[in-house]
Amino acid sequence: MRLVGQNDKRRSRWGARAGVVVLTLAALAPLVAGCGKDSTAPEPAAGGQQPLGAPPARAPDFHAPELRAAHAARVAAAKRWGLKLVPLTAPPAPEKKPRITTREGFEVDGHRRLGLPPVFTTVPTDEKVVFLTIDDGAEKDPAFLRMMSELKIPYTAFLSDYVIKGDYGYFEEMQDRGVGLNNHTLNHPPLRGLSHARQKREICGMQDVLEERYGRRPVLFRPPFGSYDKNTLRAAESCGIEYVPLWNEEVFVDRWEYREGDRKLHPGDIVLTHFRGRNEWKGTMPDMIRRFLDEVTAEGYAVGRLEDYL
Ligand SMILES: [Zn+2]
Repeated sequence: MRLVGQNDKRRSRWGARAGVVVLTLAALAPLVAGCGKDSTAPEPAAGGQQPLGAPPARAPDFHAPELRAAHAARVAAAKRWGLKLVPLTAPPAPEKKPRITTREGFEVDGHRRLGLPPVFTTVPTDEKVVFLTIDDGAEKDPAFLRMMSELKIPYTAFLSDYVIKGDYGYFEEMQDRGVGLNNHTLNHPPLRGLSHARQKREICGMQDVLEERYGRRPVLFRPPFGSYDKNTLRAAESCGIEYVPLWNEEVFVDRWEYREGDRKLHPGDIVLTHFRGRNEWKGTMPDMIRRFLDEVTAEGYAVGRLEDYL
């Protein structure tokens, strides 16, 4: 509420003030990227960290119309979906992946020695980028799929079979749009304290479902409620899990919750939300995404793809 509320006042009109700055930077960034040695490289972020050193005038003119068209499409999509600001473009995927380690205080006994998968809430990076992760799978809103595709916002899903089995096809379409489908157990129990065998059934059973339905066994697993113990990580590791991302912030349709006391985003933060609709909270998936994106953009962050950093 706090930041968004302030920005509501400061940036009340579409395209005014900060909006124009964002649009201008975003328009220049592709010119720099598109004319470098690797024309297939993703656009650099349109934030303060982007390489704007080369004057745009040096860019060949023939690039301009299509870039202008692509940019206009982004602006139009942002406006169509009711965003206050045009989302910033994420920096290119890092060439050298960061070393992911377990967050201090989140280790289990013998964590490193046993080679158990790391449990983390933030990815090490200096870029102003955050990652959106969406859990469970109860709400299956076609508008959400369209919104994310049109805005080109990446996210990572953690699915639980008991809520997706009524409509596996919805998540197949999600996967077709480039979204990674990951493991969030079969039945969503708090795992800590359950027997190793029971935990293995929950986690490895979900690996089997995901492979059967979607053709691949993911390497990302998130324990329901963030509840885990050594048996969780041993079971996960035994069925091919390599990473256990938790989260540093959670966004709801009407508020944010922060793990850290500073109540701010940090480079590499993993943000949690859920597939929920009007039955569970006072709004739709697009309503929640609007809150998420407007805050992320207002703080000068782009949304990156978590898998690009792992
Ligand atoms: Zn969950």
